[in-house]
Formats: sequence, C-alpha cells, structure tokens
Amino acid sequence: PSTADTIQHTGDAKKEHRGGEHSMLAPFTAGWQMKAGVPLVIERGEGVYVWDNKGNKYVDALAGLWCTALGFSEKRLVAAAEKQLNTLPFYHNFWNRTTQPALDLAEQLVDLFTASKMSKVFFCNSGSEANDTQVKLVWYYNNALGRPNKKKFIARQKSYHGSTLVSASLTGLPSLQNGFDLPVSFVLHTDCPHYWRYHLPGESEEDFATRLAENLEKLILKEGPETIAAFIGEPVMGAGGVMPPPKTYWDKVQPILKKYDILLIADEVVCAFGRLGTMFGCDYYGIKPDLVSVAKALSSAYQPIGAVFVSQEIFDAIAKFSDGYGAFGHGFTYSGHPVPCAVSLEALKIYKEIDICAQVNKVIPPFQTGLRQLEKSSIVGEVRGVGLVCAIEFAADKETCEAFPAKWAVGTHFAGQCASRGMLVRVAGDIIMMSPPLIISPSEVDFMVKTAMAAVVETEKYVAEKLSH
Ligand code: PMP
Repeated sequence: PSTADTIQHTGDAKKEHRGGEHSMLAPFTAGWQMKAGVPLVIERGEGVYVWDNKGNKYVDALAGLWCTALGFSEKRLVAAAEKQLNTLPFYHNFWNRTTQPALDLAEQLVDLFTASKMSKVFFCNSGSEANDTQVKLVWYYNNALGRPNKKKFIARQKSYHGSTLVSASLTGLPSLQNGFDLPVSFVLHTDCPHYWRYHLPGESEEDFATRLAENLEKLILKEGPETIAAFIGEPVMGAGGVMPPPKTYWDKVQPILKKYDILLIADEVVCAFGRLGTMFGCDYYGIKPDLVSVAKALSSAYQPIGAVFVSQEIFDAIAKFSDGYGAFGHGFTYSGHPVPCAVSLEALKIYKEIDICAQVNKVIPPFQTGLRQLEKSSIVGEVRGVGLVCAIEFAADKETCEAFPAKWAVGTHFAGQCASRGMLVRVAGDIIMMSPPLIISPSEVDFMVKTAMAAVVETEKYVAEKLSH
C-alpha cells in the first residue's frame, strides 16, 4: 500500500536514528507509514498555500482539516494571540471565575446563531469534546426532567462526529470503531442520506428523503420513543465522504424528532462560519436545532477551540438541576482558554469585516461547476458538494456505484497526481475530498479545477492500464 504523500515523498525526512522511524504515534496514519519514516513534513504556509520541507508548494485543498478558513498567514490572528499571551496567557473558567475574552466570545456566538434561539455557550478544545459534551448535557437534561430512560442517541451511517470514546461511537464509520470495541451500546445509526449510492431505481430525491424519514420513525418506534434522547447530524456530511442531504431531507426529519420529543443536535464543526455561503449550515438547510457543536473555523484553526451552543430551555433545566449537586460538574482546564478565545474573537471580526459569506458565494459557482466537469470522465462515479465542500468519487460503474478493486488504489493515484501538480487533497478510499480555505480567490479555484482535471486524465490512463491486464 502507498499514499499520495509517500508516493511523492519517499525518501524525504529520513532520520538517521531509529532506522528512519519517527517517534510519533500518528493520528489516522497506517502503522507501516509510521514505521517507514517518510512523512510529508509541512513547514510553512501563506494564503491558501503550504510548503513542504523540500520547498514544494501546494494549494491545500482541504484547508488543513477543513479548518484554516482564513488561510495560513492571517497576521491579525497571530497579533490577537500575542496580545492575549502578553496580557494574560491563561486563566480558567471554573468556580465562577472567568476572563473577558471568554465572556465576549460566548456572547457573540449566541448572537451570531439565529437559526434557532441559543442562550449559552460551553467552551472546549475540539469538535470531539464538543460532541462528548453534547451527550453529557442531554443525559443531564433528561435526568433533570425525571426521564432517566431517555438516553439513546441516533446518528447516521457515514457521519463523522469525532474520535473520543463517545464521539467515535456517534461517528458512523467502521474505520473509527474497528478494534476499539465501539460503538457504545446507547448509540444507534440510521440511514446515510447519500442519494447517488442508496436511492432505489426510479426513486426521486424527495422520495428518497421520505423513505429515510420513515425509516427514522420506524427505528424510533422499534426502540421506544421514551428511550431516544437525541439525534445528531452534520447539516452536510463531511469527512465520511461529503454527502449533501437529498432535497427536503431536513424538512422531513425535523417534525419526526419533534413528534417524539427528541432533541436535535447540529454538528456544525465543518459547516459553521461560512463554508456553505451562509454563516451556519443550519441557515442553509432551515435546521432549528436545540444544541449546536462548532470548532475548526471558530478560530480559523489558529488555536484549538470548540464550543457547544445550548438553548434556553435546556440551560434552565440544567442550571436548576446542578444546584442540587452544588455545581455543574463538567469542564476542562482549557474550557474558554483566553488565547483561543481572543483569536476566535478576531476571526469573527474578520469574517464580519470581509463579509465572509459574500466572499464564499463568489467562488462557490466556479468551484462547484468547475469540479462537476470531472463527472464526464468514465472513471468518475459522482462529483457532489455544496458551498465550498466537494467530493469526487471514482467508480468502475456509474449506475451501480461499483468500486474499482481496492488494491488499485485509484483515489490514491489521483491524489498523487494532484500532489505532483501542486495540490494536496484528502483521500478516503476512492473518494477525494476538498474544502479549501474560505479566502480562496477565483484564480486559485481555477487552478484547483485544472489540476483535478489533469490528474483525472492521468488516472484514466492508469485505470486503462490496469483494465488491460
Ligand atoms: N464533527 C465533525 C462534523 C467533524 O468534521 C469533526 C472533525 N473532522 C469533528 C466533529 C471532530 O473534531 P475534532 O477533530 O476537532 O475533535
């Protein structure tokens, strides 16, 4: 096996000691790659570009991990961090102590989210922690309401909600669960809303959405509505392969949740702060959640931070219940750390000043229509996306969605072709994902599209070669 990175960088970063093997147990990296000791070492960044330690320049088509919204060299974020570090490098938020950046950021986030009314913000360090916190909040809330049996969660197959014990359980991807004894038993998974792959012959998008909503209701009734606490969903599914919901999906799912008194958690970790051309994914799809998770673009990834938005009703119940225990017993040393909060405040200020949604809406059409051209290729099954997120999925058969043999590593070959032309993409099997920094210019989008097209031509030749054997 090989990856785009090792294809392009075999021999790079060789260490003299330990036979070339580095010392990091690396996230989402194959064991053989950790042993090979040839990681792609990224050294610096500017705008939408990063450079490796050999001086190669790449457009970073995934914005790091869907997160560096303002690119890799926004000096105002650096200045905000430096100023806060010089003033007060740390203080916590326990025991009714706090700092002004944490208070200000919470207030601004409550005001910024208008899809439904939010009342409070809980800070954490990542998307995974945000979603773990969601589960604890929902359980606490249902205990407060005297419904101790209403504790199960429904998520969707192929969703991504994080990699901690509970968030990896909410995640609907076997690759995060295999070998870890996950998912935990209180998490159920319902259908993945991917029309291309899962619709029945002749079924329209609307009918597909109806069927999925009916399946959701069946699952709720089978388990017993009195046992189901919450449904969690990304407005548009991201890391599982970029799957925008079929038309009317959210309109049909939400009334069912309401009917059975099931809370709706919007996992906005990828969508929030402009990625779909709206401030939140909920605005784009008309989702009215009870709870929201954000992270990533909140600080444009310049500092680790995540947050959970809580509705008034949930907060009121939690606050009253916690008084019975003396305090609300949840929090992290770095919940509301003043440095990431200061950086996030500056990021929000920049988003407002440059009108990030208007900026994104300008580049969405060339990005989406440009990449859709790849569907003309006989080896591309589907190009799908919304806003500044897109996936290209290779397939041996466009109709049946049949994949190429895994050992051909078609996606990896394509990614290698992109890398050699100056673009880093995310590969997951034969799915290629892109979600560039939101500040990307039209000419940089043009470069991305042209690079992907050239890489597809080369990949067609590679597949033709394989087929001829
Ligand atoms: N939710 C979603 C929708 C995500 O895409 C991610 C990360 N890709 C997470 C949660 C987890 O975030 P983190 O990696 O910061 O824990």
